Amino acid sequence: MGRWTTTVFSFSITATDGAARRGVLSTPHGDVETPCFMPVGTRGAVKALTHRDLEDLGAEIILGNTYHLHLRPGDELIARAGGLHAFIGWPHAMLTDSGGYQVFSLAGMRRVTEDGVRFRSHLDGDLHTLTPESATDIQARLGSDIAMVLDELVDPDSAAAPAMERTARWAARARARMLELRSDARLAKSVLVTNTGQAQFGIVQGGTDPALRTESVQRTLAVGFEGYAIGGLSVGEPVDVMYDVVAHTAPQLPAGQPRYLMGTGMPDDLVACVARGIDMFDCVLPTRNARNGQLLTRQGVISIKNAQYAEDLNPPDPECGCLTCRRFSRAYLRHLYVVGEMGAAMLNTAHNLYFYLDLMARIREAIVFGSFEKLRSEFHRTFSRRPQQSR
Ligand SMILES: [Zn+2]
Repeated sequence: MGRWTTTVFSFSITATDGAARRGVLSTPHGDVETPCFMPVGTRGAVKALTHRDLEDLGAEIILGNTYHLHLRPGDELIARAGGLHAFIGWPHAMLTDSGGYQVFSLAGMRRVTEDGVRFRSHLDGDLHTLTPESATDIQARLGSDIAMVLDELVDPDSAAAPAMERTARWAARARARMLELRSDARLAKSVLVTNTGQAQFGIVQGGTDPALRTESVQRTLAVGFEGYAIGGLSVGEPVDVMYDVVAHTAPQLPAGQPRYLMGTGMPDDLVACVARGIDMFDCVLPTRNARNGQLLTRQGVISIKNAQYAEDLNPPDPECGCLTCRRFSRAYLRHLYVVGEMGAAMLNTAHNLYFYLDLMARIREAIVFGSFEKLRSEFHRTFSRRPQQSR
């Protein structure tokens, strides 16, 4: 077993176009074509969709939330069920975050020390501690195919250097724990490891400072992981700054390993960051916005609750091939939203995820055929972030 591969996890690049990369992640639960978008299944479910819906949409990997699953229903129960795949009935690939993002969002309910972070559950106020080691163990019990290290997040106005340095120290501890679990079968059994092929990704921090990002890359690479994430972006910085940080950071990561941009973003961000060498994305935006009546289309954002759609019998996006757009009108979707039918969330979510997953499929095809730049310029020309007024 090499240092950067598990026996079953691997990544191969099959085509490139400029800095854009087309590849395949091989995981214990199937292959994932990249660049990919991972729908977010916070509590073991993608809100408003069934697993069957996700399979029909072509989702090959979804994301689970360590913080929420640790608190409810608990990772030990999930381990006894055979791991997260078995517990939720999703046989395809899964990635779990470290739980750090949620903990650091609990303003006033957490305290960070060198050991880890102590926090109060948002459910019952009970005290918990998350350390680099325990975040590794929890994810080993969940048995996701890709586990993330615990990192320290800072708000964009604070100094980024101390958090970057602590993240690097925590990365070494998380990796040491992971290698211990891989090499000691008795320990793995006592921890209830459910997926011996689990990969572990390090996270590059450093805010918007190029020098800090470079130092974070070097320190994270020195530890050595199966893949690398860029964290701490999409937290309120201007979008051009985010793109600059990605353009600065991604080329410094190993060419043969997967690169994951955490928590981003709008459809045009995906296109822009594939162009800067990113392979993997996740974001709550398409699912959360769907539940708020926002449809993402090739032309931009449609707010379906607006009165202008009350009698609009056109499909939400005439160019979209999803079931929602093939069958239903804007007027019907607005009606479902206004009267509070569950179908509103289901149909809107199905459309938004179809839009994201189809966009990634078109990007992958364009990279193979050397036409990614054409797709990119066309997409940026037609897509607008401002809600559409009328057409
Ligand atoms: Zn659609």
